[in-house]
Amino acid sequence: MDKLFHFDSPPDHYTADACVISCYDARFDLATRKFLKRRGIVTYDQIKIAGSCKSLAAPECDADRDFVLRMVRTSMRLHGTGLVLLVGHNECGAYSGAGADIITADVLKAAEALRAAEPSLSVECYFADFDGLYRITGPTAP
Ligand SMILES: [Zn+2]
Repeated sequence: MDKLFHFDSPPDHYTADACVISCYDARFDLATRKFLKRRGIVTYDQIKIAGSCKSLAAPECDADRDFVLRMVRTSMRLHGTGLVLLVGHNECGAYSGAGADIITADVLKAAEALRAAEPSLSVECYFADFDGLYRITGPTAP
């Protein structure tokens, strides 16, 4: 191997403040990171996949849901994660034109699925829009 870049990364293991499931749509990266900081979440395991928690709420196949659940469980096991933040966003390409109501309903549904699979987890639901982040409240939200 040829070293191309030098940077000192911390070698210590860590406890994650949260596991964050979000879409990889880069338009909401900065807002999400700033929100997490404001929320007091400094060290986190981020699962960035197209459609965010659509794979938990309405997976195209069971393997998609199983994969995301396995990633969350790995975060719990390796980094002691007890809190999961689900972040959906407006105009998500994975929803091909569906409105915010459909996407937020899926975030709530994903939270329900996650709580059923791992009852010890605390789960929070958020929606990223072009003017900031919103907490999703609903009948299944905490
Ligand atoms: Zn998206």
